[in-house]
Amino acid sequence: MAGEGRLRKTRNIGVIAHIDAGKTTVTERILYYTGVTHKMGEVHHGEAVMDWMPEEQERGITITSAVTSCEWLGNDIHVIDTPGHVDFTIEVERSLRVLDGAVGVFDAVSGVEPQSETVWHQADKYHVPKLAFINKMDRVGASFEDSIASLRDKLGVKPLVIQLPIGAEDSFIGVIDLLKMRAVYWDESSLGAEYRAVEVPGKLLPAARAAREGLVEALADLDDAVMEKYLAEEAIDERELQEAVRRATVSLKGVPVLCGAALRNRGIQPLLDAIVNFLPSPLEVPAIEGLNPATNERETRETRDDAPFCGLCFKVQMDQGRKLCYVRIYSGVLKSGAEVLNTDKNTKEKVARLLKMHANKRERIEEARAGNIVGVVGLKDTITGDTICDPAAPIVLEPIEFYEPVMSVAIEPKTAAEQERLNFALGKLAEEDPTFRVRIDEDTGQTIISGMGELHLEILTGRLLREFNAQVNVGKPQVVYRETIQAETSVERTFEREIAGAKHYAKVRLRLKALPRGSGNHFLSTAPEEQVPAAFWPAMERGLADGAASGPLMGYPMVDVEATLTGGEFREGASTELAFQIAASIALREGCREAQPLLLEPVMKMEVVVPEDFVGEAIGDLNSRKGKIDSVQPKGAMKVIDATVPLSQTFGFSTALRSATQGRGTFSMHFLRFDSARPRA
Ligand code: GDP
Repeated sequence: MAGEGRLRKTRNIGVIAHIDAGKTTVTERILYYTGVTHKMGEVHHGEAVMDWMPEEQERGITITSAVTSCEWLGNDIHVIDTPGHVDFTIEVERSLRVLDGAVGVFDAVSGVEPQSETVWHQADKYHVPKLAFINKMDRVGASFEDSIASLRDKLGVKPLVIQLPIGAEDSFIGVIDLLKMRAVYWDESSLGAEYRAVEVPGKLLPAARAAREGLVEALADLDDAVMEKYLAEEAIDERELQEAVRRATVSLKGVPVLCGAALRNRGIQPLLDAIVNFLPSPLEVPAIEGLNPATNERETRETRDDAPFCGLCFKVQMDQGRKLCYVRIYSGVLKSGAEVLNTDKNTKEKVARLLKMHANKRERIEEARAGNIVGVVGLKDTITGDTICDPAAPIVLEPIEFYEPVMSVAIEPKTAAEQERLNFALGKLAEEDPTFRVRIDEDTGQTIISGMGELHLEILTGRLLREFNAQVNVGKPQVVYRETIQAETSVERTFEREIAGAKHYAKVRLRLKALPRGSGNHFLSTAPEEQVPAAFWPAMERGLADGAASGPLMGYPMVDVEATLTGGEFREGASTELAFQIAASIALREGCREAQPLLLEPVMKMEVVVPEDFVGEAIGDLNSRKGKIDSVQPKGAMKVIDATVPLSQTFGFSTALRSATQGRGTFSMHFLRFDSARPRA
């Protein structure tokens, strides 16, 4: 089947890395050597192809998951850019969800760094097969062996070493391909576009043979076919080795390791070969599963053109004033002009245009097939995480998990006249980014925006001015809190009023109980039907949710509360949905006030890496921030301190750490849970 042949030659990949490891440079070189770009932009000139939003160029970091397509040896490679900054874990997770494979880029001097560890484990969670590219082999202090050891120790991977570097640091000039047993050298005058594969020089041969033997042994552990040959002491040829490496990679048993120096234009073409040879096509990943919304039964959709269409929107971007949805097509064919069902919103949507995405330009196409990633214009209601599908075969794919926004900041327009523009701009930003929230503070009337961290909010407020020309004053960033209860209590509330001549009556009895941290709110009913007819339950659930939206202490949302409707009173002719809704809301709010309310703050999981000599200082600083030290472990010459620290105490930590460790300490953190804001006993 023609469709299958093409799919076999499709790779949906992402590049994941610690910030500064060289992700942008590697991606940019990939686009150069595959002919997408004809000019080599260097990141420090602010013109790399993937980083096209102005903020990214200023900061030199990649914050959006732009998708771009290129071709290598007749294969379509779709590169989904994944951000590396901790504030954008959500963006990483979103893009990992739709990848079939990933390339981890590591700095040969520092090996596996904390942030890449987080992303790597996220990729494991989504069963994404990976390659490891040890970059910056030209740097002073670069070590291929140490980097491999850190892959093994920090990430727990089984490295399948398929290359050896030739030379190191300044004299890093090429690699030995251990499958082909060839030495590969790059030609500097062609910016690395020209390279030659020649015989392995005699003095490197013993090391290369030993390394190949090591690869065969590692594979024998993972693969029966290799094991048999190995035990029989039979020679294994290049093709057999290649297939074994591919099987091990696709089944997530091993990770091929390559090396190079992207900035020096070395090692990229073999990396492209490895992407094609070892990472899976959409056909090799398990068929996607979802729920049929009508029957609530699990259904699968095979990656085939003749299956009913379904796709997942994993990113929304405003693009020249139009809304652009990035969609991964899992099955079937999507045609320009088609009507699709958004199963999350239960609305029909029209595909006005289909676009093949390059980093900063797009190409109109008439149809897109299973396994592809495309830009869709015309989907009005669709947001990140929504499923769109053939209206005749409805399905909901598992939603992407979202994080809680943990920081907020008050903003106000510089002039009253700008309010409208601001509201419009905020609406558009919220459409793009589900981790970004906007609300109006009831007491002060201020507009409060919240997001994943200081940097996230800074970027969003920057975009208000740049993209929407909305001039705003920005307050000081504040930590976002939650509230909960500590005691069990019962409340009874009656609502009775005449509104516009109509009677509204309801009485409800609630029992409130605290749930373990991270449980969310649960609303249940055990009320006898004669006291509260079941028909009123949906209205009461709405009322309970309203009541939980703002807590008794500081108006933050309530969490981890179980509210059980135990009884009440219904009066024929006088009881209405509205009355039950309001009574439930008041009962919950007032009940929480009596149940020992407690403020919860975001607590972060922090990983601090410092040289041994500075462990004492770092721990002292963490203690002074009410941090709890979970463990201290060695990592080469460094120590890794795992700690949990309240977010409110982390301000200024990066400066403090730098000065306490003479600039050698690094850290990463991510949201762990909402927990008691009280000082620890
Ligand atoms: P990202 O933050 O992971 O996207 O990393 P970048 O691609 O922006 O690279 C970070 C810095 O490392 C930039 O200054 C690059 O020029 C530099 N860099 C990237 N690759 C190499 C390399 O192979 N060797 C050396 N020496 N520097 C590199």
